[in-house]
Amino acid sequence: MMNKRYSKQTTHEVLSSLTKNEKLFSVLCAQCGNYGLTPKQSSFGVHALVVTHYIEGAAYPVGGAANIHKSMEDVIEKHGGMIAIKADVKHIIIKDNTAIGVLMQNGDMLYAKNIISNAGAHNTFNKLILPELQKAENTIALNKVMPSVSHVCIYVGLNASDEELNLPKYNIWLYENYKFDETRELHLKTKDSISPVFYISFPSAKDSEWPKKHPGTAAIQVLGSYPFNWMQEWEHMRWQKRGVDYEAVKEELKNVFLEKLYKTLPQIKGKVEICELSTPLSTKHFSNYDKGEIYGLEHTPERFELKQLRPKTNYKNLYLTGQDIIAVGVCSAMFAGIITSINILNRNVLWRIARYKP
Ligand SMILES: Cc1cc2nc3c(=O)[nH]c(=O)nc-3n(C[C@H](O)[C@H](O)[C@H](O)COP(=O)(O)OP(=O)(O)OC[C@H]3O[C@@H](n4cnc5c(N)ncnc54)[C@H](O)[C@@H]3O)c2cc1C
Repeated sequence: MMNKRYSKQTTHEVLSSLTKNEKLFSVLCAQCGNYGLTPKQSSFGVHALVVTHYIEGAAYPVGGAANIHKSMEDVIEKHGGMIAIKADVKHIIIKDNTAIGVLMQNGDMLYAKNIISNAGAHNTFNKLILPELQKAENTIALNKVMPSVSHVCIYVGLNASDEELNLPKYNIWLYENYKFDETRELHLKTKDSISPVFYISFPSAKDSEWPKKHPGTAAIQVLGSYPFNWMQEWEHMRWQKRGVDYEAVKEELKNVFLEKLYKTLPQIKGKVEICELSTPLSTKHFSNYDKGEIYGLEHTPERFELKQLRPKTNYKNLYLTGQDIIAVGVCSAMFAGIITSINILNRNVLWRIARYKP
Protein backbone atom coordinates (compact mmCIF):
# COMPACT_ATOMS: atom_id res chain seq x y z
CA MET A 1 0.00 0.00 0.00
CA MET A 2 1.03 3.57 -0.57
CA ASN A 3 2.98 5.31 2.20
CA LYS A 4 1.15 8.59 2.92
CA ARG A 5 4.36 10.43 3.77
CA TYR A 6 5.38 9.99 0.13
CA SER A 7 2.01 10.10 -1.60
CA LYS A 8 1.46 13.60 -0.12
CA GLN A 9 4.61 14.93 -1.78
CA THR A 10 5.12 15.54 -5.48
CA THR A 11 7.71 13.53 -7.41
CA HIS A 12 9.61 16.79 -7.88
CA GLU A 13 9.70 17.49 -4.15
CA VAL A 14 11.14 14.07 -3.30
CA LEU A 15 13.60 13.70 -6.19
CA SER A 16 14.93 17.27 -6.04
CA SER A 17 15.88 16.62 -2.41
CA LEU A 18 18.05 13.76 -3.71
CA THR A 19 19.74 15.31 -6.76
CA LYS A 20 20.29 18.70 -8.43
CA ASN A 21 21.43 17.07 -11.66
CA GLU A 22 18.71 17.94 -14.19
CA LYS A 23 19.58 15.14 -16.60
CA LEU A 24 19.63 12.48 -13.88
CA PHE A 25 16.38 13.88 -12.45
CA SER A 26 14.65 13.58 -15.84
CA VAL A 27 15.99 10.09 -16.50
CA LEU A 28 14.61 9.02 -13.10
CA CYS A 29 11.24 10.47 -14.17
CA ALA A 30 11.24 9.05 -17.70
CA GLN A 31 8.46 6.55 -16.92
CA CYS A 32 6.10 9.32 -15.81
CA GLY A 33 4.07 8.84 -19.00
CA ASN A 34 2.79 5.60 -17.46
CA TYR A 35 0.63 7.68 -15.15
CA GLY A 36 0.41 10.77 -17.37
CA LEU A 37 1.71 13.56 -15.14
CA THR A 38 4.96 15.48 -14.97
CA PRO A 39 7.11 15.62 -11.77
CA LYS A 40 5.75 18.89 -10.34
CA GLN A 41 2.17 17.58 -10.59
CA SER A 42 2.39 13.89 -9.73
CA SER A 43 2.28 12.23 -6.34
CA PHE A 44 5.62 10.56 -5.55
CA GLY A 45 3.58 7.60 -4.31
CA VAL A 46 2.42 6.68 -7.81
CA HIS A 47 5.85 7.38 -9.29
CA ALA A 48 7.49 4.99 -6.83
CA LEU A 49 4.78 2.40 -7.50
CA VAL A 50 5.33 2.49 -11.27
CA VAL A 51 9.13 2.48 -11.09
CA THR A 52 9.11 -0.43 -8.64
CA HIS A 53 6.65 -2.31 -10.86
CA TYR A 54 9.01 -2.06 -13.86
CA ILE A 55 12.32 -2.44 -12.04
CA GLU A 56 12.79 -6.12 -12.89
CA GLY A 57 11.01 -5.85 -16.24
CA ALA A 58 7.28 -5.98 -16.84
CA ALA A 59 4.96 -8.84 -17.84
CA TYR A 60 2.76 -9.37 -20.90
CA PRO A 61 -0.18 -11.78 -21.13
CA VAL A 62 0.50 -14.77 -23.41
CA GLY A 63 -1.86 -14.43 -26.41
CA GLY A 64 -2.45 -10.70 -25.81
CA ALA A 65 -4.57 -8.55 -23.50
CA ALA A 66 -7.83 -10.24 -24.57
CA ASN A 67 -6.63 -13.38 -22.80
CA ILE A 68 -7.02 -11.63 -19.44
CA HIS A 69 -10.81 -11.55 -19.70
CA LYS A 70 -11.00 -14.88 -21.55
CA SER A 71 -9.27 -16.55 -18.61
CA MET A 72 -11.95 -15.17 -16.25
CA GLU A 73 -15.09 -16.02 -18.22
CA ASP A 74 -15.24 -19.70 -17.24
CA VAL A 75 -14.69 -18.93 -13.55
CA ILE A 76 -17.50 -16.35 -13.52
CA GLU A 77 -19.95 -18.60 -15.38
CA LYS A 78 -19.03 -21.72 -13.38
CA HIS A 79 -20.13 -19.87 -10.27
CA GLY A 80 -23.49 -18.81 -11.69
CA GLY A 81 -22.37 -15.44 -13.01
CA MET A 82 -23.43 -13.92 -16.32
CA ILE A 83 -21.36 -11.65 -18.54
CA ALA A 84 -23.08 -8.98 -20.65
CA ILE A 85 -21.11 -7.05 -23.25
CA LYS A 86 -22.19 -3.91 -25.14
CA ALA A 87 -24.55 -3.48 -22.19
CA ASP A 88 -24.51 0.05 -20.79
CA VAL A 89 -25.78 0.79 -17.32
CA LYS A 90 -28.08 3.85 -17.34
CA HIS A 91 -28.12 4.27 -13.61
CA ILE A 92 -27.71 2.48 -10.31
CA ILE A 93 -31.00 1.82 -8.53
CA ILE A 94 -30.82 3.22 -5.01
CA LYS A 95 -33.56 2.96 -2.37
CA ASP A 96 -33.19 4.36 1.15
CA ASN A 97 -29.52 5.06 0.48
CA THR A 98 -28.96 1.38 -0.44
CA ALA A 99 -27.88 0.19 -3.90
CA ILE A 100 -30.17 -2.64 -4.97
CA GLY A 101 -29.62 -3.00 -8.71
CA VAL A 102 -28.94 -1.35 -12.05
CA LEU A 103 -31.17 -0.04 -14.80
CA MET A 104 -29.67 -0.92 -18.18
CA GLN A 105 -29.89 1.36 -21.25
CA ASN A 106 -32.24 -1.17 -22.89
CA GLY A 107 -34.64 -0.88 -19.94
CA ASP A 108 -33.72 -4.16 -18.23
CA MET A 109 -33.49 -3.98 -14.45
CA LEU A 110 -30.97 -6.25 -12.76
CA TYR A 111 -31.07 -6.67 -8.99
CA ALA A 112 -28.23 -7.81 -6.74
CA LYS A 113 -27.15 -7.88 -3.13
CA ASN A 114 -24.05 -5.79 -3.89
CA ILE A 115 -23.34 -3.43 -6.76
CA ILE A 116 -19.69 -2.99 -7.74
CA SER A 117 -18.63 -0.31 -10.21
CA ASN A 118 -15.31 -0.12 -12.07
CA ALA A 119 -16.64 2.54 -14.44
CA GLY A 120 -14.55 5.17 -12.62
CA ALA A 121 -15.39 7.30 -9.59
CA HIS A 122 -16.57 10.25 -11.69
CA ASN A 123 -18.93 8.10 -13.78
CA THR A 124 -20.21 6.27 -10.72
CA PHE A 125 -20.91 9.22 -8.43
CA ASN A 126 -21.74 11.91 -11.00
CA LYS A 127 -23.40 10.03 -13.85
CA LEU A 128 -24.67 6.64 -12.73
CA ILE A 129 -26.43 7.96 -9.64
CA LEU A 130 -29.55 10.02 -10.34
CA PRO A 131 -28.93 13.77 -9.70
CA GLU A 132 -31.46 13.89 -6.83
CA LEU A 133 -29.61 11.06 -5.03
CA GLN A 134 -26.09 12.41 -5.54
CA LYS A 135 -24.20 13.64 -2.50
CA ALA A 136 -22.50 17.02 -2.37
CA GLU A 137 -19.58 15.60 -0.37
CA ASN A 138 -18.73 13.20 -3.24
CA THR A 139 -19.03 15.88 -5.92
CA ILE A 140 -16.97 18.39 -3.93
CA ALA A 141 -14.26 15.80 -3.27
CA LEU A 142 -14.05 14.65 -6.89
CA ASN A 143 -13.91 18.24 -8.13
CA LYS A 144 -10.51 18.50 -6.42
CA VAL A 145 -9.06 15.99 -8.87
CA MET A 146 -9.01 16.47 -12.65
CA PRO A 147 -9.35 13.70 -15.23
CA SER A 148 -5.98 12.33 -16.37
CA VAL A 149 -4.49 13.23 -19.77
CA SER A 150 -6.01 12.23 -23.07
CA HIS A 151 -4.10 10.75 -25.96
CA VAL A 152 -3.78 9.86 -29.61
CA CYS A 153 -2.48 6.43 -30.55
CA ILE A 154 -1.53 4.78 -33.83
CA TYR A 155 -1.90 1.01 -34.11
CA VAL A 156 0.51 -0.18 -36.78
CA GLY A 157 0.43 -3.58 -38.53
CA LEU A 158 3.61 -4.68 -40.34
CA ASN A 159 4.22 -7.30 -42.99
CA ALA A 160 7.47 -8.59 -41.47
CA SER A 161 8.15 -10.37 -38.19
CA ASP A 162 9.56 -8.81 -35.01
CA GLU A 163 12.67 -10.88 -35.51
CA GLU A 164 13.22 -9.72 -39.09
CA LEU A 165 12.69 -6.09 -38.02
CA ASN A 166 14.74 -6.51 -34.87
CA LEU A 167 11.97 -4.99 -32.72
CA PRO A 168 12.57 -4.85 -28.97
CA LYS A 169 10.37 -6.25 -26.19
CA TYR A 170 10.84 -3.13 -24.06
CA ASN A 171 8.86 0.14 -24.29
CA ILE A 172 10.49 3.30 -25.65
CA TRP A 173 9.77 6.74 -24.13
CA LEU A 174 10.81 9.72 -26.26
CA TYR A 175 10.94 13.24 -24.80
CA GLU A 176 11.60 16.59 -26.51
CA ASN A 177 14.06 17.71 -23.81
CA TYR A 178 14.80 17.35 -20.09
CA LYS A 179 12.29 20.00 -18.96
CA PHE A 180 9.19 17.82 -18.62
CA ASP A 181 7.00 20.21 -16.60
CA GLU A 182 7.62 23.37 -18.61
CA THR A 183 7.34 21.58 -21.96
CA ARG A 184 4.04 19.93 -21.00
CA GLU A 185 2.62 23.25 -19.81
CA LEU A 186 3.54 24.94 -23.09
CA HIS A 187 2.09 22.03 -25.11
CA LEU A 188 -1.27 22.18 -23.28
CA LYS A 189 -1.45 25.95 -23.88
CA THR A 190 -0.55 25.78 -27.59
CA LYS A 191 -3.37 24.36 -29.68
CA ASP A 192 -2.27 21.78 -32.26
CA SER A 193 1.28 21.61 -30.86
CA ILE A 194 2.98 18.25 -31.25
CA SER A 195 3.07 15.96 -28.22
CA PRO A 196 6.28 16.53 -26.19
CA VAL A 197 6.32 12.83 -25.29
CA PHE A 198 5.88 9.67 -27.34
CA TYR A 199 5.56 6.09 -26.15
CA ILE A 200 6.38 3.22 -28.50
CA SER A 201 5.39 -0.28 -27.58
CA PHE A 202 5.73 -3.67 -29.27
CA PRO A 203 2.85 -6.00 -28.32
CA SER A 204 3.74 -8.72 -30.84
CA ALA A 205 7.39 -8.85 -29.75
CA LYS A 206 6.24 -9.35 -26.14
CA ASP A 207 3.76 -12.11 -26.95
CA SER A 208 5.37 -15.57 -27.11
CA GLU A 209 2.35 -16.93 -29.05
CA TRP A 210 2.40 -14.25 -31.75
CA PRO A 211 4.90 -15.87 -34.19
CA LYS A 212 2.83 -19.11 -34.25
CA LYS A 213 -0.51 -17.34 -34.72
CA HIS A 214 0.58 -14.54 -37.04
CA PRO A 215 3.84 -15.57 -38.77
CA GLY A 216 5.62 -12.91 -40.81
CA THR A 217 3.81 -10.01 -39.14
CA ALA A 218 4.35 -7.59 -36.23
CA ALA A 219 2.42 -4.88 -34.40
CA ILE A 220 3.51 -1.55 -32.91
CA GLN A 221 1.67 1.16 -30.94
CA VAL A 222 2.77 4.79 -30.81
CA LEU A 223 1.04 6.99 -28.26
CA GLY A 224 1.27 10.73 -27.55
CA SER A 225 -0.55 13.44 -25.62
CA TYR A 226 -3.53 15.22 -27.23
CA PRO A 227 -5.82 17.44 -25.13
CA PHE A 228 -9.51 16.53 -25.29
CA ASN A 229 -10.68 20.13 -25.76
CA TRP A 230 -8.83 20.36 -29.09
CA MET A 231 -11.41 17.88 -30.43
CA GLN A 232 -14.46 19.39 -28.78
CA GLU A 233 -16.05 20.55 -32.04
CA TRP A 234 -16.61 16.90 -33.04
CA GLU A 235 -17.67 15.68 -29.58
CA HIS A 236 -21.40 15.63 -30.32
CA MET A 237 -20.93 13.63 -33.56
CA ARG A 238 -21.21 9.86 -33.84
CA TRP A 239 -18.32 7.46 -34.20
CA GLN A 240 -17.19 7.13 -37.85
CA LYS A 241 -19.53 9.98 -38.82
CA ARG A 242 -17.48 12.98 -37.72
CA GLY A 243 -16.90 14.36 -41.21
CA VAL A 244 -14.02 15.27 -43.48
CA ASP A 245 -12.39 17.90 -41.24
CA TYR A 246 -12.04 15.38 -38.41
CA GLU A 247 -10.65 12.78 -40.82
CA ALA A 248 -8.15 15.37 -42.11
CA VAL A 249 -6.90 16.09 -38.58
CA LYS A 250 -6.55 12.34 -38.00
CA GLU A 251 -4.60 11.93 -41.24
CA GLU A 252 -2.25 14.75 -40.27
CA LEU A 253 -1.68 13.26 -36.81
CA LYS A 254 -1.12 9.83 -38.32
CA ASN A 255 1.70 11.22 -40.47
CA VAL A 256 3.32 13.01 -37.51
CA PHE A 257 3.24 9.82 -35.42
CA LEU A 258 4.48 7.63 -38.29
CA GLU A 259 7.35 10.05 -38.94
CA LYS A 260 8.35 9.80 -35.27
CA LEU A 261 8.27 6.01 -35.57
CA TYR A 262 10.34 5.94 -38.79
CA LYS A 263 12.90 8.26 -37.23
CA THR A 264 13.25 5.93 -34.24
CA LEU A 265 13.09 2.64 -36.18
CA PRO A 266 14.08 3.34 -39.82
CA GLN A 267 14.10 -0.40 -40.63
CA ILE A 268 10.27 -0.52 -40.64
CA LYS A 269 9.90 1.90 -43.57
CA GLY A 270 8.07 0.13 -46.43
CA LYS A 271 6.80 -2.62 -44.10
CA VAL A 272 3.67 -0.86 -42.80
CA GLU A 273 0.58 -2.71 -44.03
CA ILE A 274 -2.06 -0.92 -41.94
CA CYS A 275 -2.20 2.07 -39.58
CA GLU A 276 -5.28 2.99 -37.51
CA LEU A 277 -5.46 6.08 -35.31
CA SER A 278 -7.52 6.61 -32.18
CA THR A 279 -8.29 10.02 -30.67
CA PRO A 280 -9.59 11.14 -27.24
CA LEU A 281 -13.07 10.84 -28.79
CA SER A 282 -12.40 7.13 -29.43
CA THR A 283 -11.52 6.69 -25.73
CA LYS A 284 -14.74 8.46 -24.79
CA HIS A 285 -16.80 6.39 -27.22
CA PHE A 286 -15.38 2.98 -26.32
CA SER A 287 -14.56 3.35 -22.61
CA ASN A 288 -16.99 6.09 -21.51
CA TYR A 289 -14.32 8.34 -20.02
CA ASP A 290 -15.97 11.76 -20.25
CA LYS A 291 -12.89 13.78 -21.20
CA GLY A 292 -11.20 10.93 -23.09
CA GLU A 293 -8.92 10.47 -20.09
CA ILE A 294 -6.50 7.61 -20.52
CA TYR A 295 -5.90 6.66 -16.86
CA GLY A 296 -9.01 7.63 -14.85
CA LEU A 297 -8.37 10.37 -12.29
CA GLU A 298 -5.17 12.39 -12.24
CA HIS A 299 -2.49 10.96 -9.92
CA THR A 300 -1.86 14.10 -7.87
CA PRO A 301 -1.11 14.16 -4.11
CA GLU A 302 -4.71 15.42 -3.55
CA ARG A 303 -6.15 12.30 -5.14
CA PHE A 304 -4.57 10.01 -2.58
CA GLU A 305 -6.15 12.05 0.22
CA LEU A 306 -9.74 11.46 -0.92
CA LYS A 307 -11.69 9.05 1.26
CA GLN A 308 -14.21 8.70 -1.58
CA LEU A 309 -11.66 6.65 -3.55
CA ARG A 310 -12.10 3.50 -1.50
CA PRO A 311 -14.08 0.31 -2.09
CA LYS A 312 -16.85 1.24 0.38
CA THR A 313 -18.99 4.17 -0.71
CA ASN A 314 -21.40 6.27 1.31
CA TYR A 315 -24.30 4.30 -0.24
CA LYS A 316 -24.94 0.95 1.43
CA ASN A 317 -24.00 -2.05 -0.76
CA LEU A 318 -22.44 0.13 -3.47
CA TYR A 319 -18.72 -0.52 -3.95
CA LEU A 320 -16.03 0.96 -6.17
CA THR A 321 -13.21 -0.98 -7.74
CA GLY A 322 -10.67 -0.51 -10.56
CA GLN A 323 -7.89 2.00 -11.18
CA ASP A 324 -9.48 4.95 -9.36
CA ILE A 325 -9.25 3.27 -5.96
CA ILE A 326 -5.55 2.40 -6.28
CA ALA A 327 -3.69 3.68 -9.34
CA VAL A 328 -3.45 3.27 -13.09
CA GLY A 329 -2.50 -0.09 -14.59
CA VAL A 330 -3.85 -3.56 -15.20
CA CYS A 331 -2.16 -4.95 -12.08
CA SER A 332 -3.53 -2.10 -9.96
CA ALA A 333 -7.02 -2.66 -11.35
CA MET A 334 -6.74 -6.38 -10.57
CA PHE A 335 -5.52 -5.66 -7.06
CA ALA A 336 -8.39 -3.22 -6.62
CA GLY A 337 -10.70 -6.15 -7.39
CA ILE A 338 -9.12 -8.12 -4.55
CA ILE A 339 -9.42 -5.22 -2.11
CA THR A 340 -13.07 -4.69 -2.99
CA SER A 341 -13.74 -8.43 -2.55
CA ILE A 342 -12.07 -8.34 0.86
CA ASN A 343 -14.34 -5.44 1.85
CA ILE A 344 -17.50 -7.23 0.72
CA LEU A 345 -16.62 -10.64 2.13
CA ASN A 346 -15.16 -9.11 5.27
CA ARG A 347 -12.48 -11.78 4.98
CA ASN A 348 -8.86 -11.49 3.92
CA VAL A 349 -8.56 -13.66 0.81
CA LEU A 350 -5.01 -12.57 -0.02
CA TRP A 351 -3.42 -15.69 1.43
CA ARG A 352 -5.56 -17.87 -0.86
CA ILE A 353 -4.42 -15.89 -3.87
CA ALA A 354 -0.79 -16.07 -2.76
CA ARG A 355 -1.05 -19.87 -2.46
CA TYR A 356 -2.97 -20.37 -5.73
CA LYS A 357 -1.29 -22.72 -8.21
CA PRO A 358 -2.78 -22.76 -11.74
C1 LIG B 1 -3.94 3.09 -24.70
C2 LIG B 1 -3.71 2.56 -23.32
C3 LIG B 1 -2.61 1.77 -23.06
C4 LIG B 1 -2.41 1.24 -21.78
N1 LIG B 1 -1.33 0.41 -21.57
C5 LIG B 1 -1.18 -0.18 -20.38
C6 LIG B 1 -0.14 -1.13 -20.16
O1 LIG B 1 0.66 -1.43 -21.05
N2 LIG B 1 -0.04 -1.71 -18.93
C7 LIG B 1 -0.91 -1.42 -17.91
O2 LIG B 1 -0.80 -1.99 -16.83
N3 LIG B 1 -1.90 -0.52 -18.09
C8 LIG B 1 -2.08 0.10 -19.29
N4 LIG B 1 -3.08 1.00 -19.48
C9 LIG B 1 -3.94 1.35 -18.34
C10 LIG B 1 -4.97 0.27 -18.09
O3 LIG B 1 -5.61 -0.09 -19.29
C11 LIG B 1 -6.00 0.78 -17.08
O4 LIG B 1 -5.36 1.28 -15.92
C12 LIG B 1 -6.96 -0.35 -16.66
O5 LIG B 1 -7.60 -0.89 -17.79
C13 LIG B 1 -7.99 0.18 -15.68
O6 LIG B 1 -8.91 -0.86 -15.40
P1 LIG B 1 -10.34 -0.55 -14.82
O7 LIG B 1 -11.05 -1.83 -14.70
O8 LIG B 1 -10.19 0.32 -13.61
O9 LIG B 1 -11.03 0.40 -15.91
P2 LIG B 1 -11.33 0.14 -17.44
O10 LIG B 1 -10.41 -0.88 -18.01
O11 LIG B 1 -11.36 1.49 -18.08
O12 LIG B 1 -12.79 -0.49 -17.41
C14 LIG B 1 -13.94 0.29 -17.13
C15 LIG B 1 -15.07 -0.32 -17.93
O13 LIG B 1 -16.31 0.27 -17.54
C16 LIG B 1 -17.09 0.35 -18.69
N5 LIG B 1 -18.17 1.33 -18.46
C17 LIG B 1 -18.09 2.66 -18.27
N6 LIG B 1 -19.31 3.19 -18.10
C18 LIG B 1 -20.18 2.17 -18.18
C19 LIG B 1 -21.61 2.07 -18.10
N7 LIG B 1 -22.37 3.15 -17.89
N8 LIG B 1 -22.20 0.85 -18.25
C20 LIG B 1 -21.43 -0.27 -18.45
N9 LIG B 1 -20.09 -0.23 -18.53
C21 LIG B 1 -19.47 0.97 -18.41
C22 LIG B 1 -16.13 0.79 -19.78
O14 LIG B 1 -16.64 0.52 -21.06
C23 LIG B 1 -14.92 -0.06 -19.44
O15 LIG B 1 -14.96 -1.30 -20.10
C24 LIG B 1 -3.32 1.55 -20.74
C25 LIG B 1 -4.44 2.35 -21.01
C26 LIG B 1 -4.65 2.84 -22.27
C27 LIG B 1 -5.90 3.67 -22.54
